[in-house]
Amino acid sequence: MEPSLSTVDPEIARLIHEEERREARTIRLIPSENYASRAVLEASGSVLTNKYSEGYAHKRYYEGQQSIDAIEELAIERIKRLFGAAHANVQPYSGSPANLAVYLAFAKPGDVVMGLGLPAGGHLTHGWGVSITGKYFKSVAYGVRKDDHRVDLDEVRALAKEHRPRLLFCGGTAYPRTWDFPAFRSIADEVGAILVADIAHIAGLVAGGAHPSPVGIADVVTSTTHKTLRGPRGGMIMAKPEHAAAIDKAVFPGLQGGPHNHTTAAIAVAAQEALQPSFKDYARQIVANSKALAAALIERGFTLVSGGTDNHMALLDLTPQGVPGKVAARAMDRAGLVANYNSVPFDTRKPFDPSGVRIGTPAVTSCGMKEPEMVLIAEWTKRAVDAHADEAVLAKIAGEVAEVTARFPPPGIPVG
Ligand SMILES: *Cc1c(COP(=O)(O)O)cnc(C)c1O
Repeated sequence: MEPSLSTVDPEIARLIHEEERREARTIRLIPSENYASRAVLEASGSVLTNKYSEGYAHKRYYEGQQSIDAIEELAIERIKRLFGAAHANVQPYSGSPANLAVYLAFAKPGDVVMGLGLPAGGHLTHGWGVSITGKYFKSVAYGVRKDDHRVDLDEVRALAKEHRPRLLFCGGTAYPRTWDFPAFRSIADEVGAILVADIAHIAGLVAGGAHPSPVGIADVVTSTTHKTLRGPRGGMIMAKPEHAAAIDKAVFPGLQGGPHNHTTAAIAVAAQEALQPSFKDYARQIVANSKALAAALIERGFTLVSGGTDNHMALLDLTPQGVPGKVAARAMDRAGLVANYNSVPFDTRKPFDPSGVRIGTPAVTSCGMKEPEMVLIAEWTKRAVDAHADEAVLAKIAGEVAEVTARFPPPGIPVG
């Protein structure tokens, strides 16, 4: 018998077990995180990690692809069916490489690209300066309006006409409102830009019909597979048929070597789960929970960026409380509420010490929590922020949290 992980490496085995306990006992409010199902974890932890498969199905550079070709074809077919896409590439290692492949497919270094600025809720890979996408390309950022924190389409159009971007990105990482994809389409058409919708955060909402879909509107749609979609850590790109060859060539051999076949299989499993009718209920409940949580926080005196949410996340601006986002997020973590500190639009504090905390409901919804639990979370959040320096209060809240999480065991985590 081959020795198990706990025999070979008890230190790592113990740390994984501790992480299981933490994930089961705390309330996961980071909106980019979720719980993958046991089935997804099984596929992801399989022997498929052993296989090299550079290339695409039936056009590989290595032999022995009998299972791998079938697996990748299933993943592609299910993703296309789930999103109604003409073409899908499931090989990107994650969301950032998926975006990088789009740059490689359509742009040359020095070309102009446009995306939502990081402080307004955009992603690093949409041209922000510290990212390769901001260093190798001439990046123009659009923002949100000062009064309602929504994307200002007039500003997007004016900037696009002035700078004529090759790539126009829509989508964000800390944007709590709906994206108007048709409006971006018409701006892209006016200036001859390739429209890229990055749905990394909202893919599960799009798949479940709880957010409008950019598929068929944007030229290219990129995504992660591990956020609201509840798959393994991975990325994917969907494209209009005329861009299929350019995207595939950019991913391999342009950017990557062998695909992560264990991830591909787990993406296929996650897509199969998302194709079930129950996933629509899941997506709807994520948004219902998010709105309930936002309302309960507002009732308790919190200020929300844009005044609320249309999707799975909300951004608290703690300026009125006078508690920095980092201090609040740490206090919440001590209380068993795991969130992340985040810049708010027009933040007067620094990105590493910003004014906001970002929260979201994909993971708690995966555990079966509904509106009543959102009220509890809002109340705990209020108590934790108020008592941010009082370890005894924070420990007391953590105890209450553990009592409730015991009633809502997350998928994928063995109990005990
Ligand atoms: C999370 C995210 C990404 C990057 O995904 P990684 O898997 O972390 O590389 C890209 N774009 C957006 C909008 C995201 O939210």
